Order: sequence, then structure tokens, then C-alpha cells
Amino acid sequence: MNIATASISCPECGFVFWVPTAFYKMHLKDHENFYCPACDATLRYLEKTGMERCEEAVDKIRQDVETKQRVIQRLKDENAALERRRASQQGATTKLRRKLDKIHKEE
Ligand SMILES: [Zn+2]
Repeated sequence: MNIATASISCPECGFVFWVPTAFYKMHLKDHENFYCPACDATLRYLEKTGMERCEEAVDKIRQDVETKQRVIQRLKDENAALERRRASQQGATTKLRRKLDKIHKEE
């Protein structure tokens, strides 16, 4: 029988033992405890798997995008408000200019 195995080195006693790759992969993912067969120390994989790191990175990027979209929306709103103000000021300026022209003509 030929089973794929992964070696584990106990950080407590230094004992090296082999486990089926399926066991290794499962515990790498679920971070559940297992035990050193020599000293009975509680072991577990705390290190994040590549997939977990990827998911975290994707989450971070997603949050980043959402933050930037909120900033863009806020700037768009501010821009629209400024545009409305500019338009109304332009209207007022035009009105004043016409009034002034009329006064000049009357003189
Ligand atoms: Zn041990």
C-alpha cells in the first residue's frame, strides 16, 4: 500500500512523524488540534493556508474599492453642488450686467 504522507516535526520534543497527506491538508485548513505521538503535545497549524491568505487579500481589495467608490460618489455630489452654485452665480452676474447696460444706455 502506498499512501502519500507529509512529515511533521514536533516543536516540543523534535520528534518527526509522518501523517497521510489528506490528514495534513485537512488540519492545515481547519486548524484543529492533533497530538504528537511521542510527547503528546497539542499541535495545530496556525499558519494560514494560501487560500485563506488569498481570500483575505480579496476582502481587503473589495473594502478598498468600496471606500474609493464612496469617495468618488462624495466628490461627484460636491461637484454637482458646486456646479449648481456656479450656474446660479452666472445667472446673477448676467442679470446684473444687463441692468448695468440698461443704466449706461439711459445715461
Ligand atoms: Zn512531541
